[in-house]
Amino acid sequence: MWSTSSRTLRQAAPWQVLDGFGRSVQAACRYAAPTSVEQLAAVLEQARREGLSVAFRGSGRSYGDPALNARGLVVDLRQLTRVSSWEPAHGVFECEPGVTIEGLWRRILYDGYWPAVVPGTMHPTLGGCLAMNVHGKNNYAVGPIGDHVLDFDLLTASGEVLRCSREQNADVFVAALGGLGLLGAITRLRLEVKKVHSGYVRVRPLAARSLDEMCDVFEAEVPRSDYCVGWVDCFAGGPALGRGEIHAADYLQPGEDGAPELSLRVEQQGLPPHILGFPRHQIWKIMRLTMNDLGVGFVNWAKYQAARLAHGKSYLQSHVAFAFLLDYVPNWRLAYGPTGFIQYQVFVPYAGGRETLKDVLAIAQRYRMSSYLGVLKRHRPDDYVLSHAMDGWSLAMDYKVNPARAARLKAMADELTERVIAAGGRFYFAKDSVLEPDQVARAFGSERLESFKAMKQRLDPGGLFVSDLARRVGLAPP
Ligand SMILES: Cc1cc2nc3c(=O)[nH]c(=O)nc-3n(C[C@H](O)[C@H](O)[C@H](O)COP(=O)(O)OP(=O)(O)OC[C@H]3O[C@@H](n4cnc5c(N)ncnc54)[C@H](O)[C@@H]3O)c2cc1C
Repeated sequence: MWSTSSRTLRQAAPWQVLDGFGRSVQAACRYAAPTSVEQLAAVLEQARREGLSVAFRGSGRSYGDPALNARGLVVDLRQLTRVSSWEPAHGVFECEPGVTIEGLWRRILYDGYWPAVVPGTMHPTLGGCLAMNVHGKNNYAVGPIGDHVLDFDLLTASGEVLRCSREQNADVFVAALGGLGLLGAITRLRLEVKKVHSGYVRVRPLAARSLDEMCDVFEAEVPRSDYCVGWVDCFAGGPALGRGEIHAADYLQPGEDGAPELSLRVEQQGLPPHILGFPRHQIWKIMRLTMNDLGVGFVNWAKYQAARLAHGKSYLQSHVAFAFLLDYVPNWRLAYGPTGFIQYQVFVPYAGGRETLKDVLAIAQRYRMSSYLGVLKRHRPDDYVLSHAMDGWSLAMDYKVNPARAARLKAMADELTERVIAAGGRFYFAKDSVLEPDQVARAFGSERLESFKAMKQRLDPGGLFVSDLARRVGLAPP
């Protein structure tokens, strides 16, 4: 690690090839991993002096390129993990940005708390989650993680630290939450977390025969459920287009769990070491054998048949098992092979949303590019400058990247993007690898983009903070 001694970053920061979580994008970057906020400030000061651009990186769980900086410096913030306070009486947690979602829930659960918003994996850092303003399976009810942030400190390009909250530097607060790390480094944050009365949630699995039925079930469940998420079989066509399974879930009320002191133990939350008799850590190798249209098409069909059998049979599940389904299989991304995959998540307004989503699924099928995983969620609007959410639906889709059909994938993504923009939809930068500046400009609108760029100009006039994503989508000069 570079130290504040005589060596420059250009001499001392080693080159590393870093990737996005989907492994389809990579970049050779200079790499620094400060171990304290003071050291981070010194690295940034030195980078500025040496004319090196900087991208921040948390756990690298964004699917594409927001934490990459080809030929520039990537500053990994995972070692900033100091917890400055945890107040169970008020449910307020204060820490540095390298604390992960896992670190957070492990610290607060036994006191009867759970993070108000979690993404589908526990490995991201809180800094990365704030920079993307992540949403959970309860976005329709509680908004993104930013809605639970009391305040944070932003270390800006000039070396100044801005305390940001809804009251103080409120314009920076709404721009830096979801600001893709382009306005500065979040070096400290204070979060409100959710009181829970059990280590379990009650889950109701509900099968649906088509996209319309999926949406009908969502509409019935959303007003009465704490969480609601849909798995979509993207291979099903005709009248079964968009069929799948919804999991609605609720927190337990006080007294419903007879022994919360047991269920709230961290050990009770562990994911099983084996799945269908196979060690969890080996499952990706088996998955890899089936990672083709035929194999995944069959798995989707079988999953739907299982969903029909499970329909309506509710059960208790630990918070971890419900929230972090994708963590069941460590390294599952490797199952896609060396060229990886992209995730592409579209957000569409409620009005006309069902028809837009049906078109999205049908367009992909026309290209013979069904997504290997489809996830449907319901969202509410929020006021963050680069917000991806709106009153409507999102559908996240995973596409294997195969060099032989890269042109087809790009053509399909462009057609999907145009359909979504025409419907007034938007996209999510944590899940993007394909958008171009003109598409982003039309999806987000000039008012939002100009407002963000004006904030960037104010806080970082020299353009110190960049990323490959920012250059690709026109938020930074190419
Ligand atoms: C399996 C899986 C499931 C997921 N499910 C969801 C989901 O349900 N909902 C959802 O919203 N997202 C989801 N995501 C996306 C993920 O939550 C986000 O990409 C998140 O930002 C990753 O955090 P990270 O620490 O890995 O950050 P990285 O991916 O390393 O970086 C993300 C961004 O944050 C910036 N950054 C990192 N730390 C800081 C800091 N301290 N200060 C300023 N900027 C910083 C980086 O520059 C970059 O722009 C999922 C990802 C995976 C792999």
